[in-house]
Amino acid sequence: MTSDALPTLVFATHNPNKVRELQEMLGDRYRLRSLTDIGCHEDIVEDAATLEGNARLKAQHVVNHYGLDCFADDTGLEVDALGGAPGVFSARYAGTHGDAEANMNKLLSELERVGAATPEARSAQFRTAICLMQNGVEQRFEGLCKGTIALERSGAEGFGYDPIFTPEGIGQTFAEMDANAKNAISHRGRAVRAMVDRLRT
Ligand code: IMP
Repeated sequence: MTSDALPTLVFATHNPNKVRELQEMLGDRYRLRSLTDIGCHEDIVEDAATLEGNARLKAQHVVNHYGLDCFADDTGLEVDALGGAPGVFSARYAGTHGDAEANMNKLLSELERVGAATPEARSAQFRTAICLMQNGVEQRFEGLCKGTIALERSGAEGFGYDPIFTPEGIGQTFAEMDANAKNAISHRGRAVRAMVDRLRT
């Protein structure tokens, strides 16, 4: 089948690297397209109270406005000692969207404020929610990565909270791991593989 004849699936992201990586995992069953590819340049409001809700808002926007099957993801870091914060607010915990340094500073100082000094007291998990809307049917997938919040930053790889997140059973932060090693155990990797397994059946 030529790629034009394959069913189209939109990944609700503008990031071409994410799309390429997923196309490789999916093989030749679907033709993946990004938001940029379909000309979706408007801001999609992500104001739901949960990761699942935000993923659904993004996927629903594409279905409603472009009439294409779509999936969307949303990720949060949930810290037990902080009642699950920053959670759905992870990208803008310190106020400005995407300010990773300020977000990490705020998280470290909040854990200090509540007296969480041991690894047990600093337990946390990254969680990714995926919403897939295909042929009018909605399916959800989830990926978890449990770990602890380190006392200080280590490593220069990755993004976001990677320098202060130590996954369970690994003596390094995400920011000290290469991308393949991180993908193999990460929340996003797990959620995406769950969806890909379903799409390949
Ligand atoms: P998004 O839903 O993938 O945009 O993630 C929301 C926010 O969670 C990001 O802005 C980051 O602050 C944080 N985040 C998501 N995934 C990761 C990760 O793999 N490592 C570190 N931080 C992440």
